Amino acid sequence: MCRIGKGAVGPVFLASKSSPDCFRKIQSGSQKGQSGLSRRQWLMGTLQVGTWTAIHSSIPPSEPLAAEATPPPERFPRIAPGLEIWDAHAHLDGGTGSPSDRARFLLKYADRMGVRRVNLCMGPKFEADPTPEQLREQNDAVLEAIRVAPDRLLGYVYLNPKHPEASLEEIERCVVRGPMVGIKLWIAMRCCEPPLDPLMRRAGELRLPVLQHTFFRLGGNLPGESSPDDLVQLAARHPQVNFICAHTGADWERGIRAVRPQKNISVDVCGMDPHAGWVEMAVRELGHQRVLFGSDASGRTFASQMAKVLSAGLPVEAQKAIFRDNIARLIEPVLARRTPQTSKPF
Ligand SMILES: [Zn+2]
Repeated sequence: MCRIGKGAVGPVFLASKSSPDCFRKIQSGSQKGQSGLSRRQWLMGTLQVGTWTAIHSSIPPSEPLAAEATPPPERFPRIAPGLEIWDAHAHLDGGTGSPSDRARFLLKYADRMGVRRVNLCMGPKFEADPTPEQLREQNDAVLEAIRVAPDRLLGYVYLNPKHPEASLEEIERCVVRGPMVGIKLWIAMRCCEPPLDPLMRRAGELRLPVLQHTFFRLGGNLPGESSPDDLVQLAARHPQVNFICAHTGADWERGIRAVRPQKNISVDVCGMDPHAGWVEMAVRELGHQRVLFGSDASGRTFASQMAKVLSAGLPVEAQKAIFRDNIARLIEPVLARRTPQTSKPF
């Protein structure tokens, strides 16, 4: 399928294998004098041809002349030398096979993109409202994945506030006696609800960051799905806990404004297309210390999500914070407590 990524950061990130077919199809339509095409189809076709041309004219030939080998930095942003990338939000839904197979699959692409550490949560098949048994299975998958590369893969323990006792036990099993470094909450219950409180009190005692899925969904959120406004309520009740507003609420302009006054909330910029302006606004409104890189892999690629940060024209200091230092700071108290015993996934 040929797609135009609305608001995406630049032609290089829009390239797809299907573009040549799309190009040919549109070209042949043009040669027929647009007969059989509506005005809207013709306009879209013209736009797509322009985009395809921009993509392919911006890709250097396979053996470029020496003078053309280094593209202008403003069009091809690079990762600053020595800058390390930690992914604050990724999953095991990519690839096939066991969780360890999927972890190896993920690391192959992490290596390709220079991503050093990846924070995982949930099993290969997401459970929206897991039973206590399913919670254990979801977290067992992450524990198995961590075992593949304990120095590179980290995990958030997945909880369901509808099962507070089982959730508290999972914190003990996966964090206190295990290698995980934070909490993941998805869509079982809106996070402003009171049953979250005992879990957050334990998070505060252990200084665990909490990664909460958030959306401002057009047409209304799913049952149990939290918005950034819900997260602000929870974070205000638990000022000792650091929260990560996952996806910046998807409608990131609203999300950034919603969480701005609540200083114990950071945002991750994972998911969706690589929209221009997302990271720029987050840094401007929240400060770069409250913005985290995440990929949401394998729902999204490392490359498309890194593009948001790399294209924002940020100084190296801010890039360093977003790509690594901010998530490292949030999990540092947990890593500092690690012993050889708890570092071992089991
Ligand atoms: Zn996710």
